[in-house]
Amino acid sequence: MKVYDVTASIFEGMPVYKNKEEKQPKISTQTNGHVTESRITMDVHTGTHVDSPLHMINDADTMESISIEDLVGNAKVIDLTNVKESISKEDLEKEEIEKNDFILFKTQNSFEDEFNFDFIFLAEDGAKYLVEKGIRGVGTDALGIERSQQGHPTHRTLFEKEIIIMEGLRLKEVEAGEYFMVAAPIKLQGTDAAPARVLLFEGLKQS
Ligand SMILES: [Zn+2]
Repeated sequence: MKVYDVTASIFEGMPVYKNKEEKQPKISTQTNGHVTESRITMDVHTGTHVDSPLHMINDADTMESISIEDLVGNAKVIDLTNVKESISKEDLEKEEIEKNDFILFKTQNSFEDEFNFDFIFLAEDGAKYLVEKGIRGVGTDALGIERSQQGHPTHRTLFEKEIIIMEGLRLKEVEAGEYFMVAAPIKLQGTDAAPARVLLFEGLKQS
């Protein structure tokens, strides 16, 4: 069975949203000659991560509200590598998207190793279409599911319907198709996101 690790590596100097210095992880390693311990300071939206509704909606739910049952199960990778600017309703209508699906977008973002200010994002009409379809979650290979849209309509549209948002996936090696996904955010309490390890298993399907 083939396992794809679609997680971004975390290191100092890694790609971070808009190349903001304050979003860079800081790792310091101490050793006394016998024992080595490292300390890391990082944004919860670093690399591959799951957002919670609190990220964009005041007083909304935090990471504990996202059930692990929704993060472990079948997921569909869809190939949107021909999309130029943003993923629209029209782009998504061509795909087979069904109720309760967890959809992962493979776009040109997966082929870039540096932060691109013009990354491919999900347009508001695309988000509304996913809501209509009743999916349980959506993952993107950009560090943001939207790109500086006024009022963050894409995040809000999805969060209001409790659709899980995952960002920062690395899907270059993964073909479009169905996989069994294990997405495991670290168990932070009260936060608006959590870094996650995300694995896709080929040839394994939950019945
Ligand atoms: Zn985020």
